[in-house]
Amino acid sequence: MSASRIHLLPSQLINQIAAGEVVERPASVLKELLENSLDAGADQVEIWAEEGGLRLIRVRDNGHGIDPEDVPLCLARHATSKIRQADDLERISSYGFRGEALPAIASVSRLRLATRSEASLEGRQITAQGGDIAPAAPAAHPVGTTIEVADLFFNTPARRKFLKGERTEFFHLQEVVRSAALSRFDVAFRLQHGERVQLKFAAATDEAARHRRVAEILGAGFLEESLYLEHADLGLRLHGWVGLPTFNRANSGAQYFFVNGRPVRDKVVGHAVRQAFADVLFKGRHPAFVLCLELDPAAVDVNVHPTKHEVRFRDARLVHDFLFRTLHDALGDYRPVPAQGAAA
Ligand code: ADP
Ligand code: MG
Repeated sequence: MSASRIHLLPSQLINQIAAGEVVERPASVLKELLENSLDAGADQVEIWAEEGGLRLIRVRDNGHGIDPEDVPLCLARHATSKIRQADDLERISSYGFRGEALPAIASVSRLRLATRSEASLEGRQITAQGGDIAPAAPAAHPVGTTIEVADLFFNTPARRKFLKGERTEFFHLQEVVRSAALSRFDVAFRLQHGERVQLKFAAATDEAARHRRVAEILGAGFLEESLYLEHADLGLRLHGWVGLPTFNRANSGAQYFFVNGRPVRDKVVGHAVRQAFADVLFKGRHPAFVLCLELDPAAVDVNVHPTKHEVRFRDARLVHDFLFRTLHDALGDYRPVPAQGAAA
């Protein structure tokens, strides 16, 4: 029977399979596009979405653009400008490196990419429909790149069924932008949904502007009820805002943690934070924070999962104890004084 014969899969199907890992919903598309814009050195990123991103996501940046001869390559699987050799995996300083996102997204949507690099006089565009790539052609574009992703999952109805309504998907889109805005104060972001501008952050070059951005995202009360901390030790550096115990939340929606600029959900981090807050928060309440951990790229493996939401610390214990100690000490003044101490 032919089903038992081994054969190589067509590349379009391979891309769709990869899309299953990388592209869960419109917000995952936006995350990949934003990261590409940031990797391209953009300091202005504009996003348009329609119908929660289900109908359209368009990201336009003023980054360095793509050279005309590279344009066909950016939709090819495993094509990247960010790493060259195995060694490079040891010290990744860009958000992307797998060369997987664009081909995966292109295989489950109608994609259009238009770009111009500083060195070229003319822009170029390329389009793809469900992974069928049309030849690149000249197009007008300022230096930078615009990528449009329309009709996500139009050719994979089973995937489309798993999407939530427009509102939920748009909520996730906003979260991606908020998160990027909190790790990259130097970049201006704008998100428009249909006719409405929903988020707008100017590049925050001074402290007052950074504060405005934080207050806009976490609520006006957060800055008054939080402390700014900055602590470095043992090759690790933690900085950012930690909400005081009074600024607690019913869920973990106001928690932003970045490892070398990358938004990360990590067990080691989560545990250290929970422990540090354990004796100052009521059970079931969650702290709010915007924290950036920085460490040698060689001390953390970001190549753990296609979405890069997870990382693996080389010395998880060291990171855990550093985070716990730093946060625990910072909260020292807000910790209830033990009863016996009061009696003495
Ligand atoms: P990766 O980011 O892992 O390299 P992608 O599939 O996301 O892979 O992108 C492929 C390549 O296309 C990138 O390596 C980069 O060279 C180019 N590229 C994608 N988006 C942009 C952009 N907004 N500006 C400049 N180059 C881009
Ligand atoms: Mg990428």
